[in-house]
Amino acid sequence: MNIRTQLTLRYIGIVLVVLLAMYFYLATMLKDSMSHRITSQLEIQAALTREFLIEKLPAKDNFTYEAIDPLVDRLGETEKARVTFIDLEGVVWGDTERDGEALREMDNHLKRPEVQDALEFGSGIRDRYSDTTQTEFRYYAMPIYRDVSTQTSPDKERTLIGICRVALPMEAVNTAIGNLRQIVLFASVAGLILAILFSIFSTKIITKPIEKLAQMTQSLAAGKIDSRVPVDSKNELGQLSRNFNLMADRVQEQIDKISEEHRRLETILTDMGEGVLLVNGAFEITYANPMAISMLSLPDVYVGKALIEINRIPELHTLLQAAEQTETVAFAEIRLGNLTEPEAEVTVVPVSTGEEYVIVIHDVTKVRQLERIRADFVANVSHELRTPLTTIQGYAETLLNEDTPRSKTSEQFIVKILTHSSRLSRLVSELLELSRLESGDVELKRTRCHLNTFHDPILEVFEPILEESELVLKWEVPEDLPEVSVDQQLFMQVLANLIDNAIKYTPDGGRITVSAEIRTSEAFEGTNITSKEIIVHVQDTGIGIPMESQPRVFERFYRVDKGRAREMGGTGLGLAIAKHIVLRHNGRIWLESTLGEGSVFHVAIPL
Ligand code: ADP
Repeated sequence: MNIRTQLTLRYIGIVLVVLLAMYFYLATMLKDSMSHRITSQLEIQAALTREFLIEKLPAKDNFTYEAIDPLVDRLGETEKARVTFIDLEGVVWGDTERDGEALREMDNHLKRPEVQDALEFGSGIRDRYSDTTQTEFRYYAMPIYRDVSTQTSPDKERTLIGICRVALPMEAVNTAIGNLRQIVLFASVAGLILAILFSIFSTKIITKPIEKLAQMTQSLAAGKIDSRVPVDSKNELGQLSRNFNLMADRVQEQIDKISEEHRRLETILTDMGEGVLLVNGAFEITYANPMAISMLSLPDVYVGKALIEINRIPELHTLLQAAEQTETVAFAEIRLGNLTEPEAEVTVVPVSTGEEYVIVIHDVTKVRQLERIRADFVANVSHELRTPLTTIQGYAETLLNEDTPRSKTSEQFIVKILTHSSRLSRLVSELLELSRLESGDVELKRTRCHLNTFHDPILEVFEPILEESELVLKWEVPEDLPEVSVDQQLFMQVLANLIDNAIKYTPDGGRITVSAEIRTSEAFEGTNITSKEIIVHVQDTGIGIPMESQPRVFERFYRVDKGRAREMGGTGLGLAIAKHIVLRHNGRIWLESTLGEGSVFHVAIPL
């Protein structure tokens, strides 16, 4: 049932209830008032009748029909009521409704209730159906006393001589109620028609905007986002319509925004050089961009298929499992084709609750090729430079050592040639060293040793320069430190490079401290897997490194102050070599420094 029918029915119901209540109230009120009026009228008429009969009635023993009935008839005619006279034995001597024989045949009226009440209480009133007249009457009976003088007493005595009864038909009351019923019926029908018309009209006003709202929400739900409802009133319904339109505006705005973002994202994903895949918790593909499709040679239908089934790359599966277990980003270089070199950097990022993973595949084939070409070039150039440099150095040395007379300028030139060529040769060997480390050609010859093993060789190398610069080298490595497994020659180079830098960049009279400690750390953030490592600190009281240069000092050829570094004989490769050696040991290297106060370089080697 729609809202309009419901409202209409309710209106009609209310009108019906009101009309019925009105009818019952009016009917009762009218009946009561009419009945009251008839009773009062009867009372007056009965009193008048009694007075008349006291006057006119013959003596008790001389009662005859001929004397009484005409009296009663006359009274009835004047009062427009039925009048009856009954004697003490119940014999009816006069009645307006009966004459002659019929009067004589009337039953004894002594036992009539109103008569009994009149004898007992002085008056009697009753509504009854009259057998005589076949209609409903209200009877009012009164005893008639007459003052009679007796022989024994001179005083007159009140003697009961009979009962007079006046009756009025109740027809008037019933007719009045019947009329009322008709009026109410007519009013009800008219009211009902009015109520129906009114409800149809008024519910239409209320329900029309609601219907429009319903239609609008329906078309909104069906996806017609531009549907709006007309606002044609200022009441609550108008407000509701306005709010609905505002809501639809907002929804449209949001959808437009999302669509735009979706389109942008789609463009980015389609055009980007990286392959992007989305897999669910069961590692089934839910999305793949065109690049990922071509990189992994995905079939036409791939959505919902398990990645491992489509593309049998165990490393990719292992990477996904690692991301699942650690709930963090997993990264690896993976071979996607049949090439011997890794050709893709793959990153797996768990999204939200680990229910989804984003796989980003970055093709590094070209980068790797270029890196190889560059490394080969550097190695080749360095290699080619080495022989002529050694020759230049050899000849310069021979010239210098020759015992022939020469000018001061020539001698200065020879010394300059020697210094520069030896610097060049250092640069070349460092470059070669770096190339070898980068290419992975260097094989680590790991042996277990205590860090203190490096103390004497270090002192041997740096003692002269330390003394010359009045610098103090403090060696504070605890004896009880566990042994580390390192390539001693390479690790010595790391320490030498760091100490060499510390010496170079610490003004005379400063202090260099080498210390070490063992530290336990979380292997994976958020897990309870721990790892132990030995950390070596090389601290100086030197010039320090500005904040902006700190992340760059491990880059090859990066120098904070180029002029100064060159003056110091630096190549800009020392820290790059140290970093590569540490990385080959699966360690870490980092620094802390305050400008003008000094620097600390930390090297962590896992145990
Ligand atoms: P270099 O051979 O020039 O010392 P490195 O790679 O060893 O090259 O260092 C790179 C740069 O980092 C240096 O040029 C210098 O500016 C800075 N540096 C390295 N160690 C220190 C240090 N202990 N104190 C101040 N600056 C340093």
